[in-house]
Amino acid sequence: MLELVGGRAEVEEGEQAEVGLRYRAPTPSDRDRFVAYLGHDAPRGGTAYLVAVAPETTATADDPRRRGLRAVGASLGDLDAGVLTTATGLANWHARHGFCPRCGSPTEPAHSGWIRVCPNDESEHYPRTDPAVIMSVIDNQDRLLLARGVGFAAQGMSVLAGFVEPGESLSSAVAREVHEEVGVTVSDVAYLGDQPWPFPSSLMIGFTARAVTTDLTLQKSEIEAARWFDRDEFTRAVADGSLRISSRISIARRLIEHWYGGEIDVADPPARS
Ligand SMILES: [Zn+2]
Repeated sequence: MLELVGGRAEVEEGEQAEVGLRYRAPTPSDRDRFVAYLGHDAPRGGTAYLVAVAPETTATADDPRRRGLRAVGASLGDLDAGVLTTATGLANWHARHGFCPRCGSPTEPAHSGWIRVCPNDESEHYPRTDPAVIMSVIDNQDRLLLARGVGFAAQGMSVLAGFVEPGESLSSAVAREVHEEVGVTVSDVAYLGDQPWPFPSSLMIGFTARAVTTDLTLQKSEIEAARWFDRDEFTRAVADGSLRISSRISIARRLIEHWYGGEIDVADPPARS
């Protein structure tokens, strides 16, 4: 049983990785909590993993042993990272879907925590995943486009990203977002990888795209700054601290490293919770 409080779980020194999740046996007080079954670690038998979502108290809020997925995701082993990601996504969904979208009645969890049911009209509601695209845009001189979104930390820059709209294909979403945010036309959109991002319910789908135009026209409401980097400029800016890139946990970092051609040796900024 993993206990999640305000999106944070207890962690301890890990056996396989830097840190591990601390699991506990179920307790009678779990009866009053939202509990979901997450799965077994072997196809037949094995250990069953569950999550219990406990209410936040003053004691747990200040407990330094409790950490969230953003803070420890990159330091966990594969199994623990998967457990915490699924638990976080499921807990976030339940926390935000307490009422039936059809009739407004309070809904109840069912199927081991994987659906919610409306007792009034018997409609079933499934956990949502909101697709978002994230893309490295590269021009004909092999330069990478990085941008600072409104609200980013000073010196922070990353690749562009945005939500997929209804009726849109993933490649159309890539082309539209890049054009809206920086005025660049792209072609050759190609899939590179993806990552669940349960804050609260996204799936980040990573692409690379070739820039057909390079003039930048920024969408002021979303983008504070944007520029093209060649590898030398990028290396210097990261080294002298004038450019801060996304943390190791994010797919943004992997897209940047895919362009760069290897791991970028720079420490992560301190993460929130
Ligand atoms: Zn209903």
